[in-house]
Amino acid sequence: MSALEQSRHLATAIPGPRSCELIARKSAAVARGVGTTMPVYAARAFGGIVEDVDGNRLIDLGSGIAVTTIGNASPKVVERAAEQLHKFTHTCFMVTPYEGYVAVAEALNRLTPGDGDKRTALFNSGSEAVENAVKIARSYTRKQAVVSFDHAYHGRTNLTMALTAKSMPYKHGFGPFAPEIYRAPLSYPFRDAEFGKELATDGELAARRAITVIDKQVGADNLAAVIIEPIQGEGGFIVPAEGFLPTLLEWCHANGVVFIADEVQTGFARTGAMFACEHEGIVPDLIVTAKGIADGMPLSAVTGRAEIMDAPHVSGLGGTYGGNPVACAAALATIETIESDGLVARAAQIETLMKDKLGRLQAEDDRIGDVRGRGAMIAVELVKPGTLEPDPELTKNLLAAAHRAGVIVLSCGTFGNVLRFLPPLAISDELLLEGLDVLELILRDL
Ligand SMILES: *Cc1c(COP(=O)(O)O)cnc(C)c1O
Repeated sequence: MSALEQSRHLATAIPGPRSCELIARKSAAVARGVGTTMPVYAARAFGGIVEDVDGNRLIDLGSGIAVTTIGNASPKVVERAAEQLHKFTHTCFMVTPYEGYVAVAEALNRLTPGDGDKRTALFNSGSEAVENAVKIARSYTRKQAVVSFDHAYHGRTNLTMALTAKSMPYKHGFGPFAPEIYRAPLSYPFRDAEFGKELATDGELAARRAITVIDKQVGADNLAAVIIEPIQGEGGFIVPAEGFLPTLLEWCHANGVVFIADEVQTGFARTGAMFACEHEGIVPDLIVTAKGIADGMPLSAVTGRAEIMDAPHVSGLGGTYGGNPVACAAALATIETIESDGLVARAAQIETLMKDKLGRLQAEDDRIGDVRGRGAMIAVELVKPGTLEPDPELTKNLLAAAHRAGVIVLSCGTFGNVLRFLPPLAISDELLLEGLDVLELILRDL
C-alpha cells in the first residue's frame, strides 16, 4: 500500500457522499447509544493524517482518544502483529501460555515508576484493568471501600461507572452502581482559584481538603484503595497543583491504603514522560495502563508492587482474551518504537510548540480561560469572556467547524467546555501548527 500523503486535503464537503451513506447505514444498524464524534468514516490512517472514505485527508489531533500515540499503523507494529497473526491468533494465556505475554509484563515492570519487585497482569480494556486493580487492592488489604475524585473518568462497566464522576452521558439511567465507592474533591487549579489563590497553587492544601473528606466520610480502616488519574483525561485534562499527588500517596502509605494511578490516558510517552506519575516523582502501588500501550490493539494492564499484585489466589485473575498474542506483539513493538524513536522527548517538544501557540491565542482572546496539560496532552478551557463560566456552546461550534475544515479534535470536561489535543507523536510540526491555525481562524470567526 502506498504511503498516505501527509497533508490536509478536502476532496468533498464534510461529510462526503460515501460517509453520508455510511451514516445512514449506521443509524439503521448500530445502537444509537454508541455515538460518534466525527461525521466521516475512516479509510486509512498514518502519521498525522486520517483519510476518509471520500478521499478527504484530515489532520489528526485526537489519536483515537490517546491510543495511536506512536502514529497509526506504525510500521514496526504492523510488521510484528502480522508475524504473530501468521503464527497463532489465540491459545488463551490461562490454557497454553506464550512468551509475548511474559515479555510485555517484563517490559511494564521495567518501565513503570519504582525499582522494587513488580508483577503485571494483562486484560483487554482500560475499564477491565481498573476493575482488576480494585479486585487486587481489596484482596491485598481485606478492605472494601474505594475513593475516586470529582471529574474522574475510569470507564463504563458497572464498577467503573461508579468510579466515574460525570452522570451524562456515562451513568445516566444505568444504575444501580457498585457499592462502597466514595468521592473526594480534586485539585483543579483553574477553578479552585475561586476559593482562593492558595488552594489553586498549593497542592498539599488541596490534598488535605480531600484527605479530610476521606477520613471523615470513609475512614482509612474501611478503605482499600484511592484511585486517581495523575492528569485527568475525560474530566478536562486537569493537572493537579504541585504536591497534591505526593501528599495523597503519603497519606495512603501511612494508612494501609493502596494508591492506584489510572494512567490509561496519560501513559506511554503521552505527557512527555513514559508515565505521568514521573512528573511528580511518585511511585504508585498499582498503575493501570491501556490506550497507548499497543497502538490500537486491545490490551490493558495492571502493574505494581509484587506483594500487592500477588495477593489474589491462583486463578483469581484472568479472562479469555486477556493479553491476546497479537496485541502483545503490537505492545512490544510500540514500546520499542517509543524508546528507539525518542518519543518521550518528542512529546515534550510538542508541549512547547502547542503551549507557545495557544498561549499567544489566550493573550489575545479572553474566551480562552486556561491552557494546560503536559506533553502531547494539551487542553484549552473555554469560558464566557473574562469569567469562570463554562462555554460549552462555543466549544461545540468550534469543534463542528474544525471537523468541517478537516481537523479531528475532541472535547472533554465536566462542563463540556474543554478542547483537548492528543496528536500522535508521529505528526510533523507543520501539520500540527496547521491544525492549530485552522482553529485560530475559526475562533476569530465565531
Ligand atoms: C479511556 C479510559 C478508561 C477506560 O478505558 P476503556 O478501554 O475505554 O475501557 C479508564 N480510565 C481512563 C483514565 C481513561 O482515559
